[in-house]
Amino acid sequence: MLDPNDIEAKKDALIWSARRCFDLGLQTNAGGNLSVRLSSAEAIVIKPSGVGFAECSRDNLQVVHLSGTIEPSSFKPSKDLDFHLDLYRIRPDINAIVHCHSPWATGFASAGLEIPCLTVQTIEKIGRMPLIPLSENGGPQTEVEISPFFKDASVRAAVLANHGTIGVGKTLTEAQYLAEIIEETAHIAFVRDTLLAAHGKTTADLPRFGTAKDARSAAK
Ligand SMILES: [Zn+2]
Repeated sequence: MLDPNDIEAKKDALIWSARRCFDLGLQTNAGGNLSVRLSSAEAIVIKPSGVGFAECSRDNLQVVHLSGTIEPSSFKPSKDLDFHLDLYRIRPDINAIVHCHSPWATGFASAGLEIPCLTVQTIEKIGRMPLIPLSENGGPQTEVEISPFFKDASVRAAVLANHGTIGVGKTLTEAQYLAEIIEETAHIAFVRDTLLAAHGKTTADLPRFGTAKDARSAAK
């Protein structure tokens, strides 16, 4: 049984997240997608196809059961719906997914480069960010390419070649922050690589630990 109060609360949370992605320049136009799991049922709230992040509203967001059944809606389901549903099915710890085509991260992904986790924050919050290749026919990644990477429960973020980013979380805020950290890290990596090249350096010291506490306990 779907709880209308839960649906309303989750829709409002998704509208907040989508607006934040748009305001930060993580997603323009109607690309990308984001979703959140309902607490009362095995169903999610997700942005439909053709609706921009800045245009999400209680009226256009869709409710979809993990079985794939879509609650009545006049909007077309997202092309990304299947991979969102599959991630919720295989990872009970995932309650939210933010998928953006943010430009710095997608630039790395389009160059076939993994974004290095090069700051203490990315080591602590992400650990590693796999780069997932295009589907076999050269088209966008589907659950066939994406889900195997997320079967590893430690994977919280990934980058899709020639496509975009995925951040997942126990909460929508957590997934949203990961989408922001992925983009910020790609930007920092670009600045680092540019400066290293300009100064004729090939390597830099990188942190091995995410927190001072980790570093102290490893030194014991
Ligand atoms: Zn996409």
